[in-house]
Amino acid sequence: MDSENDIGGGFVLGAPTATFTPEGFSEQQRLMAQTAEGFAQDVVVPASEIIERQDLGELRRLMRQAGELGLTAVDIPEAYGGLGLDLVASAIVADHLAVQGSFSVTFGAHAGIATLPLVYFGSEEQKRRYLPKLATAEWIGAYALSEAGAGSDALALRAEGRLAPDGTHYLLSGEKMWISNAGIADLFTVFARTGDKISAFLVEAGFPGVATGAEEHKMGIQGSSTRPLLLREAQVPVENVLGGVGEGGHVAFQILNAGRFKLGAACIGGARNTIREAVRYAAERHAFGKPIAQMGLVQQMIADMVLALYASESAVYRTAGLMAAHSGLDEFAAECSIVKIDASEMLDGVVDRAVQIHGGNGFVRGNRAEQAYRDSRVNRIFEGTNEINRLLLSGMLLRRAQKGRLGLMAAVQAALAELMSGTATTEPQEQARKAALLIMGLAWQKFGEGLVQEEEALAAIADLLIGVYRMQSVEARAPGSTAATVIASEALDTIEVQARRALAMLSEGDALRTQLAWLRRLLKREAVNVIALRRAVAEQAIERGGYPF
Ligand SMILES: Cc1cc2nc3c(=O)[nH]c(=O)nc-3n(C[C@H](O)[C@H](O)[C@H](O)COP(=O)(O)OP(=O)(O)OC[C@H]3O[C@@H](n4cnc5c(N)ncnc54)[C@H](O)[C@@H]3O)c2cc1C
Repeated sequence: MDSENDIGGGFVLGAPTATFTPEGFSEQQRLMAQTAEGFAQDVVVPASEIIERQDLGELRRLMRQAGELGLTAVDIPEAYGGLGLDLVASAIVADHLAVQGSFSVTFGAHAGIATLPLVYFGSEEQKRRYLPKLATAEWIGAYALSEAGAGSDALALRAEGRLAPDGTHYLLSGEKMWISNAGIADLFTVFARTGDKISAFLVEAGFPGVATGAEEHKMGIQGSSTRPLLLREAQVPVENVLGGVGEGGHVAFQILNAGRFKLGAACIGGARNTIREAVRYAAERHAFGKPIAQMGLVQQMIADMVLALYASESAVYRTAGLMAAHSGLDEFAAECSIVKIDASEMLDGVVDRAVQIHGGNGFVRGNRAEQAYRDSRVNRIFEGTNEINRLLLSGMLLRRAQKGRLGLMAAVQAALAELMSGTATTEPQEQARKAALLIMGLAWQKFGEGLVQEEEALAAIADLLIGVYRMQSVEARAPGSTAATVIASEALDTIEVQARRALAMLSEGDALRTQLAWLRRLLKREAVNVIALRRAVAEQAIERGGYPF
């Protein structure tokens, strides 16, 4: 995977040369998926009602059980009691474990954003002290960055760490907000101001001055624990500074890349499970003398769910493969944002259709579809809202290009030259990529360096890039397949609308008319009978009793 297209952001330069897909799982990876799935279905799902009553003792017990199976040890090196596996394995576990929202978020906070800071930034001594306990889930971890006045604007945080006069420890003061796992956590990674910089601290729940507030009453994931973390001159030994004094911002954002990626993986697991339940319900529920699964419009909803998941799943595992082949967490930060936005929005679409397929039953408290609908919503809010991730995605690619780490401007020039010469590609993913390059080029022409401040333009670019990444991922996974044909056709329809809107924002008059003509020529394509193809996809799902791929 050494091609220029396989570096961070390289997807804008062309399709990937090699793509990791679920079909390429090794024996060990298949086993990992089975173990996670078996635990989720046999142990977590039956405990769902107890979890939803927010029985934190039960939640801890389930986490310990997951730990006994090694599920919390995947990312931790063997030297510290872990399995030392890569981010593909990590995605597989997050994906196949995600059948119960509250448990999935608890697991994700622990095994992801709480454990990874130590794995990537811990000193030898810190790793030896804490990782073995986190690996088995004997200790539960939490990640405490947000504050009431600092969520998206995380660097505006006000918690403060002051070195005590004797120099042996820091005194941490402040209040962290919405901290997942706070009610069951033994170890918090806390971000606080030290002078004009931010530092990360490993804070044990038992340190003097550490307490948690009341549980938040949430719309969804009600069994998970979300509380404020209260720090009142909390005493934290100097050896518990993580990653060096003043390096907290770097630690926080690097870890969020992994968090976003894992959240995407969990969203595809949630969607697969929701689809299975919706398809089974549709097969059993009768109306007008036959199962509703035989109704054309129900089938179209099933196809919506299946195809959306297929695209997101392809994007998640493509990204997993890329990340596993590189060290560090920042090379594919843009792709992590894509995965987070795409998978969380995909899941919202899936749970919405699942409620619809369940009809009145889907609207009643306690129904699994109703719960999945509520549980899904937070994914667009945490780990960076989807608005923030859209801004980050486009901004990161532009900055990479400015630093000479991505040949973006040359790609824009080539696409423009091709457009003006009248030659046109007929490959849908290339058509989409060139449309994205056209908009990026024109946006750069209009705003120059100021583009990174233009939110609407950045979001328009982000939407096009997400479309391109999805199309490439699916085409690389199953070229010419029914799923790839429908996804590409529908994605191009969306991209055309998005690109037209973007052009109208960027140009006017004759220039706009010319550019719209370029766009029409670029996106010229045959009409595809997607309705019939989607029906075939739905029938496959109904026959298999769930997601068929
Ligand atoms: C259940 C739950 C669990 C959580 N767990 C954790 C945790 O474990 N650890 C942790 O540190 N945090 C956690 N959070 C906090 C979460 O990360 C923040 O809620 C999130 O980052 C958004 O911040 P905010 O709530 O302050 O919203 P705000 O930043 O106030 O945003 C409000 C709205 O404005 C938009 N907005 C803000 N700035 C911009 C901008 N520049 N451009 C465009 N739009 C903008 C946002 O997208 C959003 O739509 C959790 C939150 C929830 C709800």
